[in-house]
Amino acid sequence: MKTNLYLAWSSDRKIQETGNSGGAVTALLKFALEHKKVDAVLAVKKRNNSRFDAVPTLITDPGLIHETAGTLHFAPVSMVKIVKNYLDGARNMKIAVTCKPCDARAIIELAKRKQIQLENLFLIGLNCSGTFLPTVAEQMISEAYGENPQDLVKEEVDNGKLIITLKDGSTREKDLEELAQKGFEMRENCLRCSYKIPRMADIACGKWGNSGKEATFIEICSPKGHEFLDAAAENGALVMEAATSEQIEERKQEETAAVENAQAREQKELDVLKNYSPDERLKFWSSHLQRCIKCFGCRDACPLCYCKDCYLEPYRGCVAGGETPPDIMFQLIRLSHVADSCVNCGQCQDVCPMEIPLTRLYNCLNRELVRIFDYQPGVDVNQYPPLTIVTDQELFIDAPDIINITSAAE
Ligand code: SF4
Ligand code: SF4
Ligand code: SF4
Repeated sequence: MKTNLYLAWSSDRKIQETGNSGGAVTALLKFALEHKKVDAVLAVKKRNNSRFDAVPTLITDPGLIHETAGTLHFAPVSMVKIVKNYLDGARNMKIAVTCKPCDARAIIELAKRKQIQLENLFLIGLNCSGTFLPTVAEQMISEAYGENPQDLVKEEVDNGKLIITLKDGSTREKDLEELAQKGFEMRENCLRCSYKIPRMADIACGKWGNSGKEATFIEICSPKGHEFLDAAAENGALVMEAATSEQIEERKQEETAAVENAQAREQKELDVLKNYSPDERLKFWSSHLQRCIKCFGCRDACPLCYCKDCYLEPYRGCVAGGETPPDIMFQLIRLSHVADSCVNCGQCQDVCPMEIPLTRLYNCLNRELVRIFDYQPGVDVNQYPPLTIVTDQELFIDAPDIINITSAAE
């Protein structure tokens, strides 16, 4: 039987040197463009050669793929809005997209809502151990590591440590716990994120399980993934060998440890709120939400907020215009619209100028919905959001109060 688990690396020495872990992803992207498997590649590249500033880039020339080589932990860019808003949901072109698990999940959620044409995408998932905000990271490198941030050429998260490589080839490592105690934590959403390997993408690529070799561990997750990798290997662009049972076990252990950490962190957050009375909980959230200056940043950054005619606009009559802080309905409307599909990507919180812990709020409600409906957003394209498939009959049986409210309104 054909395996789904491989170690792979580029056959091109130059790509091996520039890409991470043997350059398999870079080689695959180059192959996809050269052999017209896709019309374009959407990936992230550094801006001004800074590891703290990155932009999504659309590439059609295979000669430019090297610009996207390597992994960036200090520039959490989302690719999803680019596909949805600027590439017309991939309706008119085939695109290979490199994506973190939260990007891949948001793409799947949008595909369910017919906002993205999944058939035209080849999702190259990148394992993710978490990311830092660029400002936090830059300060961390200079204060906690005592190094010039501009001297940084590589960073990686491994075994609870953040290891940085400097221009002169030397490395420094620090414990993530110790960094957190000094105030240099990963983004809050990343700390609670249990999706470390993006199995909802066509392939999931990363380092875990490579036994320290210059190779990428690839898990093939779809027929499209098989087709692409077979073609790249036959063409000689990629060298692949089936992963050994030891390598598979090594990867499993790394994943389990990372997921357990994330779940413990999430549980800690939920426990704090669970011990509050409903009144205390309301006070807790109100104290945060009343800082809102209604800049609409959270709505505009959220990959799942895609309505053209948004209920938060004053002309819709739900929230009055010109009020700051806005009525709590401003937040509650957005919360009720995205809570079932929120993928904990953190984009809303990243842009909030008032540092409101928005993802904690969305995640609290999302976890409740997961518990009630057993619905995990962004995992299976064939599993529809519960609130879109609930029937009138189910509403009437399970929530008689809703009938009363509806009847009273009528
Ligand atoms: S939310 Fe998860 S997938 Fe997204 S950047 Fe953070 S750790 Fe990675
Ligand atoms: S609500 Fe925030 S965390 Fe959830 S999907 Fe939208 S931007 Fe991402
Ligand atoms: S980004 Fe923050 S301040 Fe701006 S509207 Fe959203 S919650 Fe309010």
